[in-house]
Amino acid sequence: MKVIFLGTGEAFDENMPNNSVLVISDKTNLLLDCGCTTPTQLWKFNNDQSFLDAVYISHTHADHYFGIPALLYRMKEEGRKKALTIICQNTKTIKDIVNYGYKNLYSKLGFEINFMKVEEEQTIQFNDLKLLFAPTAHSISNFAIKIDDNKKSLCYSGDGGFNEKTEELYKNSDLVIHEAYLYDEKREGHACMIDLIKMAERSNVKCLALTHIHRDLRKELNKKNISSKKVKVIIPKPFDKFKI
Ligand SMILES: [Zn+2]
Repeated sequence: MKVIFLGTGEAFDENMPNNSVLVISDKTNLLLDCGCTTPTQLWKFNNDQSFLDAVYISHTHADHYFGIPALLYRMKEEGRKKALTIICQNTKTIKDIVNYGYKNLYSKLGFEINFMKVEEEQTIQFNDLKLLFAPTAHSISNFAIKIDDNKKSLCYSGDGGFNEKTEELYKNSDLVIHEAYLYDEKREGHACMIDLIKMAERSNVKCLALTHIHRDLRKELNKKNISSKKVKVIIPKPFDKFKI
């Protein structure tokens, strides 16, 4: 699988696009989260409007799904015919944001949208990918996702701190992409880098990618120690690629 980091920023960072990752497997192009700034990042990477097979929305905070109306409208404008799958917890909220953005867009799309409602600890087989989910500790319900192509596996948290269930999901993964809003401060609803590194070490994670970093912390990262003897730790930038 190939991973392209489209954005690695938190919600209010003027220098970083919203947290969003593109996963490319043998048969599937899957977008993970679609905040306000995600569509332009995606179109810079690939502007073929049939490119995406599915979008996963981790939770309904604006920086993770307000890009959906623009994403769909450009697909319509450029004549997409292929169905698009949207995997999410709350299909009504996603439908509402599209209607707020562009009234009646659904009826004019010209292609099908298949909504897949995801529940806690559910497993979904989508094309060549097995998708598993576990809740994180966030201010609203957020599901981390594990993506397994039967050869390798990667996880993506979207937002929120980890807990026993997410830690179990991440075990033995080749790559875990995790929100790391803080450095060593414990704050409800978010993860800190020091705890994430310890968790990745005990969970036998091969590589930990820290994203969704607070805008002030990002400015002083050169003063922080984020190394580990057991786990490769990276801080990706937009359009960085990773192969597992
Ligand atoms: Zn959030």
